[in-house]
Amino acid sequence: MSPVSVIPPETLARVADALAALTRAGLPALEARMLVSHATGLSRVQLITQDTYGIDEAVRQQLSELAARRLAGEPMAYLLGDREFFGRTFKVTPAVLIPRPDTELLVEQALDRIEERDAPDVLDMGTGSGIIAITIALARRDACVWATDASADALAVAMGNAQALGAANLHAALGDWYGALAETDAPHVFDLIVSNPPYIAATDEHLGQGDLRFEPPSALTDHDDGLRHLRTIVSGAPACLAADGWLLLEHGYDQGEAVRALLTQAGFADVFTAQDLASHDRCSGGRWPTAKTPA
Ligand code: GLN
Repeated sequence: MSPVSVIPPETLARVADALAALTRAGLPALEARMLVSHATGLSRVQLITQDTYGIDEAVRQQLSELAARRLAGEPMAYLLGDREFFGRTFKVTPAVLIPRPDTELLVEQALDRIEERDAPDVLDMGTGSGIIAITIALARRDACVWATDASADALAVAMGNAQALGAANLHAALGDWYGALAETDAPHVFDLIVSNPPYIAATDEHLGQGDLRFEPPSALTDHDDGLRHLRTIVSGAPACLAADGWLLLEHGYDQGEAVRALLTQAGFADVFTAQDLASHDRCSGGRWPTAKTPA
């Protein structure tokens, strides 16, 4: 990593000076505004209308440190401690993947599939910060949503978000994929199973770039070919889906064909792939048929 120019805290005496110093040090103007706003507690409008506002000693120090960490590559979401998803603010920590706008596609597809079902039972495996499970739970107050994660720290973040956002219909279980549900009072079958599992192949160079360098490796990669967890989820789904229940999975832009093949081979019907805003394959799914017809 390139050496970081430390911004002397004494140069951050007032809002206008701080914004100028952070941008001079190489931060984009938007990020400088976000960090100054976060440290001072001033809104982004106040940064403009009160730019002579004096910043006290402790806050100058904090801002200098935040800027140095950002210049060293730490993701904005971890520095600020939150990220927007589906119009809501979710707390995030380095124990969880940073929410991606791409994942809104999976949520939209999921909500469409349960639109006609009353009080659906929903399972989100590998929930991380809980964005998928909580967004579904809030959109469908009649749903019973189970969220699992293999990381206790991640599950604590998800439960904190569920509580802060008022998702009382969300239940959590710690453990690996379907195994997490053993010894819980979760339903035996679900109307909808969703997951955004770690799907980046161990050899993918993106793991060494940008925000991904700071995210939990176990939330990003399967340390294999990228399909290991997707295979586990698909193969276990038939035993856990109600008749005509749906399985929807997020995956990499180049995994659509492979995931559709897994679903078809497992006996799913209406197998599809949907594209994200960048027109990349991002989410695939299928329906577990009422009466399975021979392939
Ligand atoms: N979509 C994320 C990325 O491309 C990866 C998320 C995941 O592995 N589930 O950075």
